[in-house]
Amino acid sequence: MALARETGLELAVRSGGHSSAGHSTTEGGILLDLGAMTALSIDADQRTAWAQTGLIAGQYTTAAGAYGLATGFGDTGSVGIGGITLGGGIGYLVRKHGLTIDDLLAAELVTADGQLLQVDAQTHPDLFWAIRGGGGNFGVATRLRFRLHEVSTVVGGMLLLPATPEVIASFVAEAEAAPEELSTIANVMVAPPMPFVPPEYHGRLVIMAMLVHAGELDAGERAVAPFRALAAPIADMVRPMPYPAIYPPEQDYHPTAVTRTMFVDALNRDAAETIVEYLQASDASMRVAQLRVLGGAMARVPVEATAFAHRQRRIMVNVTALYQGPEDRAVREAWVVDFADALRQGDDGVYVNFLGDEGQARVRDAYPGATWDRLVAIKRRYDPTNLFRLNQNIPPA
Ligand SMILES: Cc1cc2nc3c(=O)[nH]c(=O)nc-3n(C[C@H](O)[C@H](O)[C@H](O)COP(=O)(O)OP(=O)(O)OC[C@H]3O[C@@H](n4cnc5c(N)ncnc54)[C@H](O)[C@@H]3O)c2cc1C
Repeated sequence: MALARETGLELAVRSGGHSSAGHSTTEGGILLDLGAMTALSIDADQRTAWAQTGLIAGQYTTAAGAYGLATGFGDTGSVGIGGITLGGGIGYLVRKHGLTIDDLLAAELVTADGQLLQVDAQTHPDLFWAIRGGGGNFGVATRLRFRLHEVSTVVGGMLLLPATPEVIASFVAEAEAAPEELSTIANVMVAPPMPFVPPEYHGRLVIMAMLVHAGELDAGERAVAPFRALAAPIADMVRPMPYPAIYPPEQDYHPTAVTRTMFVDALNRDAAETIVEYLQASDASMRVAQLRVLGGAMARVPVEATAFAHRQRRIMVNVTALYQGPEDRAVREAWVVDFADALRQGDDGVYVNFLGDEGQARVRDAYPGATWDRLVAIKRRYDPTNLFRLNQNIPPA
């Protein structure tokens, strides 16, 4: 960091390396890779954990799972706890326990001037507010202290349903009506030729849904039943399972994709029909509309309590297409932009962790109103020269 400060070279900070905007690599700059910092200390009695930020969500979840405890991260085990936490963190426990930042109790942060600060609600409360949603703008988080919840056996896993407009809209309605123990992620996509998909469905539109009910097992079965009843499931792998099993081992697979993300307040049959039409019209090797119904614990935290300003939004939609090479990228990006425009409901709010390299105006959309002004003031105080600028940047001026 001192070298970056003295030379002016671009500084990239990497935890799990999943930045889709490419912010954790630099050409000709300095890369601060936290990957080797994977210490984790769990206090099962106090239900807290100190975690170094080279850990990925799957490692943390497996270790905490040994005590029947968990902190919620995202849908993918290989995502770094550094990046996901500092941006907010929306995953399988979001409705039951809130965002990842809602379980962040403290951080150790190396600021631009090289100081190691202990940051929590009492010490540097301005920084503690800012790092809960403001990303890597304020320093390098070396350790994070989380609250753990009792989450051992959940009713969870994958449910594959045929994706008609009716089933998509009803899925969303059921997810909104479900008890908040249940969080869902519905991927509307073309069925891949995978072993659990019967061959006659390969290439057809399906909802590949991931469900997690963190509560009593009977209640979980009852909560999942309405989804199973939406249509005859093509595959049903929802079952009682240890929570860490929601992060199965991943292939070493690095697809290149373009994504647009948004929040919407409702997703009715017309919107579901738009989703089906767009997905059928594309020939990208993989194309997905991902629907995440929010609410519950996430929405009960006051908007001004942290730098994540979208707590009242009801549904997050991510539209993605894979591409091969620069020419294909242009084609896929045009489709993704059109698709997202067709679904947008007159609001530009965006979750910073799903934002690509989309320009400064979009970063502001992540931090509407007073949130932006407060973030800029804190940035000016702790990083006046914008040392931490390779990120969804909040400039100091
Ligand atoms: C396959 C995939 C699935 C995803 N699923 C979800 C999901 O379900 N829910 C969700 O909320 N998000 C999800 N995301 C988005 C994810 O939260 C962000 O991409 C996040 O930034 C990744 O964190 P990382 O540590 O792996 O990435 P990195 O690329 O290492 O970091 C991203 C940026 O975060 C900052 N940063 C990271 N670590 C630190 C640190 N220790 N100190 C200071 N700054 C730091 C830096 O600015 C860095 O450029 C997903 C992303 C991918 C690629």
